[in-house]
Amino acid sequence: MPSRRTILKLGAAPFLFGRAPLVRAAAPQVAVIGAGAFGGWTAWWLARRGARVTVIDAWGPGNMRASSGGETRVIRGSYGDRAIYTKMSARALRLWQDREREWQQPLYVRTGALWMFGVDDSFAGASVPIMAAEGLPSERPTVDAARRRWPQISFSGISSTLFEPEAGYLLARRSCAIVLERARSLGAEYRAGAAAALSPSREVDRVPLEGSGTVAADAFVFACGPWLGRLFPDVIGDRIKPTRQEVFYFGAPAGDSRFDEGELPVWADFRERLIYGIPGNAHRGFKIADDTAGPLFDPTTGDRRNSPAAIEAARAFLRIRFPALGEAPLLGGEVCQYESSPDAHFIIDRHPSAPNVWIAGGGSGHGFKMGPALGEMLADLILTEGQPDPRFRLARFEPR
Ligand SMILES: Cc1cc2nc3c(=O)[nH]c(=O)nc-3n(C[C@H](O)[C@H](O)[C@H](O)COP(=O)(O)OP(=O)(O)OC[C@H]3O[C@@H](n4cnc5c(N)ncnc54)[C@H](O)[C@@H]3O)c2cc1C
Repeated sequence: MPSRRTILKLGAAPFLFGRAPLVRAAAPQVAVIGAGAFGGWTAWWLARRGARVTVIDAWGPGNMRASSGGETRVIRGSYGDRAIYTKMSARALRLWQDREREWQQPLYVRTGALWMFGVDDSFAGASVPIMAAEGLPSERPTVDAARRRWPQISFSGISSTLFEPEAGYLLARRSCAIVLERARSLGAEYRAGAAAALSPSREVDRVPLEGSGTVAADAFVFACGPWLGRLFPDVIGDRIKPTRQEVFYFGAPAGDSRFDEGELPVWADFRERLIYGIPGNAHRGFKIADDTAGPLFDPTTGDRRNSPAAIEAARAFLRIRFPALGEAPLLGGEVCQYESSPDAHFIIDRHPSAPNVWIAGGGSGHGFKMGPALGEMLADLILTEGQPDPRFRLARFEPR
C-alpha cells in the first residue's frame, strides 16, 4: 500500500495528465464537512482533480442557518490595501463566470458596485491601483456625475465615490446547491450528518458523527463556518465569533423600477458604518444591511426574527440615502451570522496536531464571493501537500 503521502500526491495526477482510470484507483479519499461556500467549492475542486470526495452537512447546502444561506452576496474587487483579497476576488470572479457558462446556470449578476465615502476615501485610494494590477476596472465619478447617473440616490454627506463596473451579486444559497450537485456529477458522495467535536492529538483516519457512525478518509476538510469554534474548542474556540446580522427587503412603489438591477448597482455607504444594499434579485425587494458586527449569536438555536430597532435604523437610513423608499413597506428579512476571525483574515490551515485535518473558515463577512478561488487553493494544498499563506494560518494568533 502506498503511504497517505504518496496517495495524496498522486491525487493531482488525473487532472494534470488526464490518466484518470489508472490513477483513480489510488485517488485520495477526502471528507469535506460543511457544504457552504467554502466546503462546497473545495469538494467540487477536489472531485474535479480526481479525489474521491464525501461531503457531509448537518442541514444541507445553503441551508437557512448557514452563513452562505442568504439570497444574495456581493462580489467586488475593492479591498483597500488588503491586496491578497483583491487578487483572490479577481480569480473568483473569473471562476464564477466560467462555471456559469459551463453549467448554464445563473450564478452571478453583473450590476456594478457604487461606493460612497465621506471625507475619508483612503479605502478607494488604496483599492484602485491594486484592482488595476489584477485587471479589475474602476471609475471615480465625481459626486455631481454620480448624482446625474443615479438620481434615485441622495448624495448628502458624500464627498467622493468609487464605481466597480465588474462587481455585482451572486445567488448565494442557490449556488451552494448547484455546486454540490456539480460535485456529485463528478462522483462526490453526499451524506446528511453532523460531525462531532474533535480534539485530535495525531492524524486521524475517521471522524465520529453525532448520534452514531463515523466517516473514514485520508484527509478531512472542516468547512463549518460559524460552527468551527464549537467543533474545535481548543484550536478555534472564540477565534471565530458568530455575530447576529440583520438583512431587510423593502418594497418600491408599484411600477417604479428605479431600485431594480439595471437601474441601480450594488451600493455601499462607507462612512462611520458600512451600510450596503443589493437591488433587484428576482423582484424580491430592495436589500439593505448594516455590516457592523452585531451581538454574539448561536447559529444553531439563535432567534432569527428581525428586531424592531434594526428595522427602524434601516428605515432611517433609507430616508436619507434613498428618500423615495423612506416609507417603503418591509417585505421581508433575514437574520444570518458573520463568522469573524479577530483580524478578518480567513483561517485556512492544518490542525496543529493532525496534519490531515484541514480547517477552512473565518469568512468574516466577506467570504462567499471567494468560494471558487478558495476551493481551488485549498484543493491544491491538500493534493500537493502545500503550505497555506501565513496570513491564513493559525500560527498568526497568540498561543493559548
Ligand atoms: C448577512 C450576511 C451578508 C454577507 N455578505 C457577504 C457579501 O456580500 N459578500 C461575501 O463575499 N460574503 C458575504 N458574507 C459572508 C459569507 O456569506 C460567509 O463568509 C460565507 O458564506 C461562509 O461560508 P462557509 O462555507 O465558511 O460557512 P457556512 O455557509 O456557514 O457553511 C457551513 C456549513 O457547515 C455545516 N455544518 C456546521 N456544523 C456541521 C457539523 N458538525 N457537521 C456537518 N456539517 C456542519 C452547516 O450546515 C453549513 O452548511 C455575508 C454573510 C452574512 C451573514
